[in-house]
Amino acid sequence: MLTDIEIAQQAEMEPIKNVAAKLGMSEDDIEMYGKYKAKISDEYMQSVKNNENGKLILVTAINPTPAGEGKTTVTVGLGQAMCKLGKKAVIALREPSLGPCFGIKGGAAGGGYAQVVPMEDLNLHFTGDFHAITSANNLLAAVMDNHMHQGNTLRIDPKRIVFKRCLDMNDRVLRNIIVGMGKKGDGVMRQDGFVITVASEIMAILCLAIDIKDLQERLSRIIVAYNVDNEPVTAGELKCVGAMTALLKDAIKPNLIQTLEHTPALVHGGPFANIAHGCNSVRATQTALKIADYVITEAGFGADLGAEKFFDIKCRMTGLKPDAVVLVATVRALKYNGGVAKANLGEENLEALEKGIVNLEKHIENLQLYGVPVVVTLNRFVSDTDAELAFVREFCEKRGCDFALANVWEKGGEGGIELANAVLNTLETKESHFKVLYEDNLSIKEKIETIAKKIYGADGVTYSAEADRAIAKIEEMGFANMPVCMAKNQYSLSDDAKKLGRPTGFTVNIREVYVSAGAGFVVAITGAIMTMPGLPKVPAAERIYVDDEGVTHGLF
Ligand code: ADP
Ligand code: MG
Repeated sequence: MLTDIEIAQQAEMEPIKNVAAKLGMSEDDIEMYGKYKAKISDEYMQSVKNNENGKLILVTAINPTPAGEGKTTVTVGLGQAMCKLGKKAVIALREPSLGPCFGIKGGAAGGGYAQVVPMEDLNLHFTGDFHAITSANNLLAAVMDNHMHQGNTLRIDPKRIVFKRCLDMNDRVLRNIIVGMGKKGDGVMRQDGFVITVASEIMAILCLAIDIKDLQERLSRIIVAYNVDNEPVTAGELKCVGAMTALLKDAIKPNLIQTLEHTPALVHGGPFANIAHGCNSVRATQTALKIADYVITEAGFGADLGAEKFFDIKCRMTGLKPDAVVLVATVRALKYNGGVAKANLGEENLEALEKGIVNLEKHIENLQLYGVPVVVTLNRFVSDTDAELAFVREFCEKRGCDFALANVWEKGGEGGIELANAVLNTLETKESHFKVLYEDNLSIKEKIETIAKKIYGADGVTYSAEADRAIAKIEEMGFANMPVCMAKNQYSLSDDAKKLGRPTGFTVNIREVYVSAGAGFVVAITGAIMTMPGLPKVPAAERIYVDDEGVTHGLF
């Protein structure tokens, strides 16, 4: 069996202008980044604004193993299968972060015969969007520190700075640092820290902004610090929003690439789902809906994180209405949830499967709370046995849930026909009655408690003294009506990564709360989750190299 990167490198790509042409875009409608990548122009996006929307299908998953459960793979494979059936389908995905790419998980372009290409470009620098976001973020940080050095007329309290520098890298030593050491001319000395770019507020803003004007307004609302009277100081007051927008003006345009079978894919923006809101840009999703009859999009990690935020943040803010949800499960992840160690997931184990399937059950129930029809799909691994597959199918059918096997990793679009037909059938026969989980007018604590109890299955929520104070301040500043973006580990429904399956009898602890006023949500940090991840003992980076011909290897 070839590796993902070998399959991707053997693919014969269509020139991207041909892929665009199939969607009705001329060469004037796209901006080429080489032969196989393009950005969609603002003029084109304007010109399709009044088209009718296609159907929106969200792909989400059960709680994953550390290797990922194949949401991107299934998203790509389902898009390819729809095209095989003659449907006009477009995929909308996030851009990968270098953090996981060099860490445990590897790239995020799908897998096997269900991938988007060019794979190395996408996983590494792509069209420079993350570079632009990182630069805009760090410009703001530099301007803020310079402001304090140059007399600090805004009276920023160096102990109350909330805006951090960012870098798209898993780099634990940057979590807590001291800046400004040295002489008087070296700036104000203070404690600082980095977040990973995909957890930054600028990333969230880029993904939620509907146009340049909205982008600028959101950037200017970012709260960077509090002054000595504990009043917020914003990016707008630091007067660098124009320059930040200049850095982001191309990054805000959705990128067009293709799958191995030439299905168009809009890949744009990439907030993580555990420590950010987890969905590709609104602009990419909205554009996709205007140019296709079926849009298949992925939200990160399990449905407790990605799908919850897709619905309660992205759809709430933009009026997007999903028509169906595909819930991806794997026999491996179900066994993992049943207590099997990562190394033994390849062995048949019906007992563990039965124990772990409660995780799938909980996610089905959760998704039903949103009123959107659910299709469960099992992403097939070669190690799965017939007995295991039959067990999961029966489990779903007994719960009146549509079920389909997906074999897209091995067979590409052909292996997704059963799933595509199930989704098309669901779209035809079941109406979506989408509703968000909680109303805007609940208090911040009521929102957090609604998510913790209804989605995670918690008994209740506890707050650190610091979180309590932060919530009071956020409500006093008038941000109580914003939705909440939970930061939680991805392995468990609870805030403790070790509680697998369907945990009960636990409380969620909120350690820290802050407002992302530009993004438009309140972030609640649970348990031990970090906004700057670290690398594992043996990082994936150790296996990556470039041969004498300039070909990259080992990028999964
Ligand atoms: P997610 O989007 O859920 O994080 P991905 O689609 O990125 O997951 O897949 C994670 C990894 O698992 C990739 O390296 C991919 O090649 C691999 N993978 C996905 N599905 C399968 C499968 N059915 N068989 C073997 N490997 C798979
Ligand atoms: Mg993915």
